[in-house]
Amino acid sequence: MPPTFQPMNLISVLEAQERILQKVHAVGQTKFPLEHAARRVLAEDIRAAADLPSFDNSSMDGFALRSQDTSASRVTLRVVADLAAGAAPKGSLAAGEAARITTGAPLPPGADAVIPVEETDFNERGAGIPAPKTVTITRKADAGENVRPRGTDVRAGQVVLAAPHRLRAQDLGLLAMLGIANVPVYNIPRVALLSSGDELVPVDAPLTEGKIHDSNSYALAAQIEEAGAQAVRLGVARDERAAVESLLDRAADMAVDMIVTSAGVSVGAFDFVKEVVEAKGSLNFWRVNMRPGKPLAFGEYRGIPFVGLPGNPVSAFVTFEVFVRPALEKLSGLAPRPRRRTTVRLAEAVESDGRESYLRAIVDEQGVARLTGHQGSGNLFSLVQANALLIIPAGVKSRPASSDVEAWLI
Ligand code: AMP
Ligand code: MG
Repeated sequence: MPPTFQPMNLISVLEAQERILQKVHAVGQTKFPLEHAARRVLAEDIRAAADLPSFDNSSMDGFALRSQDTSASRVTLRVVADLAAGAAPKGSLAAGEAARITTGAPLPPGADAVIPVEETDFNERGAGIPAPKTVTITRKADAGENVRPRGTDVRAGQVVLAAPHRLRAQDLGLLAMLGIANVPVYNIPRVALLSSGDELVPVDAPLTEGKIHDSNSYALAAQIEEAGAQAVRLGVARDERAAVESLLDRAADMAVDMIVTSAGVSVGAFDFVKEVVEAKGSLNFWRVNMRPGKPLAFGEYRGIPFVGLPGNPVSAFVTFEVFVRPALEKLSGLAPRPRRRTTVRLAEAVESDGRESYLRAIVDEQGVARLTGHQGSGNLFSLVQANALLIIPAGVKSRPASSDVEAWLI
């Protein structure tokens, strides 16, 4: 059995999430060129200024005509116009008249249907072929056939995109259709990222005895960028008060929107991060009833929201997902919503210590979950192999094989 922890003066995951969200606020807004707006968060509702499509047009290459001129028997019409996409019709069709038309070209006034070229005696669509003088049709055309009426997709005045919303490719296409060249979006939050620990050396430095590479800053920077924020990497602080303070001050001088550190927040002899934060700011909480990740500090440093993640690489990753990601959503202007959970079935019994636990697992196509080996919070490879985090609620110490548990897919 794993050891049992008393949740004394540990706050719950939910309470910690709520306390963080209470203290972070959306960054400012700006108008931004459409071509660079992908993945930015829309800051104002977008209303269509015009109908889409903005004019009745043909959905086929063919002949525009008046449906009442056609019948079940053969009819020959005079071709009085040749309308390519982009053309503006000059006159309207009178009785017995037709216009050659291509896909996307405006329907001439008077016309109410398009018969495709394949269904006429002029089945020619090569480039440069002149329109015929007459065209013969052998069937009845229905009013509206092969016509895309104005306003079928969007009506002028309609809200087509509601803020806040992260802009996707199709949204940019729609904004372009509406002629919106500059989009109101939130700024991208800037997040200062620093590691702490005398054992840490850069990824390209040789490892001498007792040293390890600083891996958290790479994983966390990628998580920050993936969440739509900008990581400002400040490097590694030695385990000394002055070193930690000088990097935190650098972050504050840059007026970042949030400071994220890893390590140095537990109760070890060299864990200075908490006390440096308290000297020039304040701590809101520093322990959460979860596993991995109990030592998690939150507060503000010189007025900037500060999150001190644990140093163990799996703990840093998981606590980022649990606490920092929703905070970055709110900073980005989004309304943070609980992450979607999937129900999976345990292939084997799992044990927990009663804290809210996030266990690394592989979920197969049948929805059956198996743990990816030893769950020690330094074992990053077991996280690399996982495609899900199983969530065992606080107070639960074990779940038998074949029981259902909730999971985040990662
Ligand atoms: P600490 O919170 O400082 O006690 O660190 C907990 C564990 O995480 C220790 O084993 C550290 O060596 C490790 N650790 C701390 N920072 C990093 C980092 N940036 N990259 C990889 N491991 C780290
Ligand atoms: Mg340390």
